[in-house]
Amino acid sequence: TIETIAIIGAGLTGAMAAHALRAQGYAGRLHLIGDESRQAYDRTTLSKAVLMGEPPEPPAIMDTSWYASAHVDVQLGRRVSCLDVASRQIQFESGAPLAYDRLLLATGARARRVAISGCELEGIHTLRDRADSLALRQALQPGQSLVIVGGGLIGCEVATTARKASVNVTILEAGDELLLRVLGHQTGAWCRAELERLGVQVERNAQASCFEGEERVRAVVCADGRKVAADLVLVSIGADPADELARAAGIACARGVLVDATGASSCPRVFAAGDVAAWPLRGGGQRSLETYLNSQAQAEAAASAMLGKPVPALQVPTSWTEIAGHRIQMIGNAEGPGEIVLRGEAQTGQPLVLFRLFDGCVEAATAINAAKEFSVATRLVGARVPVSAGQLQDAGLNLRDLLKAKPQ
Ligand code: NAD
Repeated sequence: TIETIAIIGAGLTGAMAAHALRAQGYAGRLHLIGDESRQAYDRTTLSKAVLMGEPPEPPAIMDTSWYASAHVDVQLGRRVSCLDVASRQIQFESGAPLAYDRLLLATGARARRVAISGCELEGIHTLRDRADSLALRQALQPGQSLVIVGGGLIGCEVATTARKASVNVTILEAGDELLLRVLGHQTGAWCRAELERLGVQVERNAQASCFEGEERVRAVVCADGRKVAADLVLVSIGADPADELARAAGIACARGVLVDATGASSCPRVFAAGDVAAWPLRGGGQRSLETYLNSQAQAEAAASAMLGKPVPALQVPTSWTEIAGHRIQMIGNAEGPGEIVLRGEAQTGQPLVLFRLFDGCVEAATAINAAKEFSVATRLVGARVPVSAGQLQDAGLNLRDLLKAKPQ
């Protein structure tokens, strides 16, 4: 029998897993342990609304009253120092160890840092948690110059927010286009043009090589000699899974805890979900998906598996972003084999949905300000029904009708 379940990491994944365990009827002891001092909140707001101060605090994932009513023992501001998987115990920096029957690792990821000269100077920020967002908000003053190192999701979202606050923004992106990891070349280039229209200066193939300044940062210098003056710097060059507890315990990891499609790790009774988990993908391979929606789905799957009712949930990456005033939603890998088909470009001059069509099926879709079309696109990706480029482009055809075809 399962008497005690411990969840390490009290963010979105930890809270959603606790919720799923109770919803699925688990009535035993449930410990939710986190090193932040707050109950789970919505991190997706930290680079957008909360960075503007509207609202000043990120919304909570679960009402504060829920944890007590569901008899979840929430231990905040507590760091786990070590897992003893042989004796099935969690050890803390201080205090008695905690024994478990099932353990979920939901420790998330950390902002990657640059180890270049000057990186210790004042005025250099990263953005991952509430405190980071509040500190950056305070530092953003109209008329100042913000240099953003890394033109990915955080970089482009913060650039948008900072322009709204009348801050001068330069993005230094090491790659040859913005947003390549998540959106691919075509949408990346479109976002760049939109950001430039807002007055954002974008420098591509720009690898930061050092920060200049006395105590405070004054400029960022690139490997090719380009130099940009800065009052303030944001380093947003990706995230690294916080998998060190698992690695130290001998659990198999490769950029995240390696799990199967139910969240089970290489170690009996230990599971992982969310950004810390390298989870198997529907199209093969496995990695940390780094998205809100996939973390939610993984929390549900891991909860079922911990209760002995495994439901394999191969993942398809799914997320959304808001850049230069546009809401962009994406499912699947934007780049890969096959052809890119645009739907809805003609009238408005901007693509509404970009499909990646491979082997006669929709493999991936990116929707720009097209929420309704995206929900159908999501179903097309899931259903794997045969479609043609002509059908996807046909404005007179209702995309929903394509779902009636038989799956391949
Ligand atoms: P990212 O991977 O989206 O982007 C990092 C960017 O930095 C890439 O474009 C990369 O080419 C560039 N880069 C890497 N090294 C560089 C260097 N030395 N100099 C210049 N550029 C460099 O990562 P992020 O934007 O830092 O976001 C961190 C995490 O937060 C990710 O897990 C991301 O998924 C998540 N996040 C998601 C959303 C969303 O889904 N809307 C929004 C914000 C953050």
